[in-house]
Amino acid sequence: MQAQPLGIADTRQIHYFAPVGEGQRGGIRQHNRLAENVDGTASLDHPLQYWLADEASALYRAILTTASTSSKRRDSFPKAGFRRNLLAWFDQNKRDLPWRKDRDPYHVWISEIMLQQTRVAAVIDYYQRFLKRFPTIEKLAAARGASVLATWSGLGYYRRARMLHAAAKEIALPRQGRWPTNAADLRELPGIGRYTAAAVASIAFDEPVAVVDGNVERILLRVSGKALATEEQWRFANELLSTERPGDFNQAMMELGATVCLPKQPKCLLCPISKSCATRGELRNEQNGLRQKKKTIAYALDRRGGDVFLVQRPRTASLMPGMWELPEIAEQTAQPWLTLRHSITVTDYTVNVIKEQVSNQPTGRWISAAKATNLPLTGLARKILRAAKLI
Ligand code: SF4
Repeated sequence: MQAQPLGIADTRQIHYFAPVGEGQRGGIRQHNRLAENVDGTASLDHPLQYWLADEASALYRAILTTASTSSKRRDSFPKAGFRRNLLAWFDQNKRDLPWRKDRDPYHVWISEIMLQQTRVAAVIDYYQRFLKRFPTIEKLAAARGASVLATWSGLGYYRRARMLHAAAKEIALPRQGRWPTNAADLRELPGIGRYTAAAVASIAFDEPVAVVDGNVERILLRVSGKALATEEQWRFANELLSTERPGDFNQAMMELGATVCLPKQPKCLLCPISKSCATRGELRNEQNGLRQKKKTIAYALDRRGGDVFLVQRPRTASLMPGMWELPEIAEQTAQPWLTLRHSITVTDYTVNVIKEQVSNQPTGRWISAAKATNLPLTGLARKILRAAKLI
């Protein structure tokens, strides 16, 4: 049985949850007493559990009559305590990440773009390498597109790198290096959507605007115990936001989602906001329905001395246009030289690499290993060439 919040019967202090589901007639259970005042000033916590036999009890009626709209529920949410506990936890527990050393908008922006769809651990090296190659927005704006892609190569979602380059040109040239300082103006730049604009505006410029990414969304769903529509999530996040420390608050929410309120097994015992959380991890995992597709593909590895035969993807391709890779071939019966796994967006690929001569392909070229290193290679091509010790 799964506890779902029916409503907050909170005249001042107590949240109740009625169990729903098969066989749950004739009683309700008080799961927890969350004795945090609506202004978040007190924090007593007395777990009491008992069953009430009569559906028509006064308590049950009280719950039904106070079950209200989500906005009313949010009004009684202990926001001040939530903010205080979350920020105190963040101050103590935030990870030491290279993009947290300052609040330079260029650094914040690069890290936020890289972190989209990519894990922190995978981003750290790329971030440092990227900033070494393009230490300022002017250097990035002046770079060739192929150099930007080559430095990005392996991070995936290459449209991000192209948009980054386009936005750098926009800031460095027509705007002469002056950054827009609020989310609305930042959204005018290429590749900067609602999330990135809010992240840069709040972290670099202290604008009180909340972010909602996958981590924040999960926390909001679990804390409210309710499936919130997209606009409700943004509204709720903005209501919770600390206007004094908006950048830290946003980072704290994302940090909590990445390290404590995990998708599969939230660490509720370590959670600084568990007293404000309606579900404490009991909500159905909203991501269960998302299944990765599985596919098997084959590539040919054709070598001639220190050269390798590579093909360039069409510039009109929707995925990774213009990037270089090994020639894809029809599935083979031959024993693969190498088999590896690779994921792109919603597909998990089993990749078989076959040693085979394919140099008659018209879109391909022999390329020396030294030159291949600096080409915009797809992440998969880079993996294979590394396994072949060519780069
Ligand atoms: S108590 Fe658990 S489910 Fe709720 S926010 Fe914290 S970690 Fe997430």
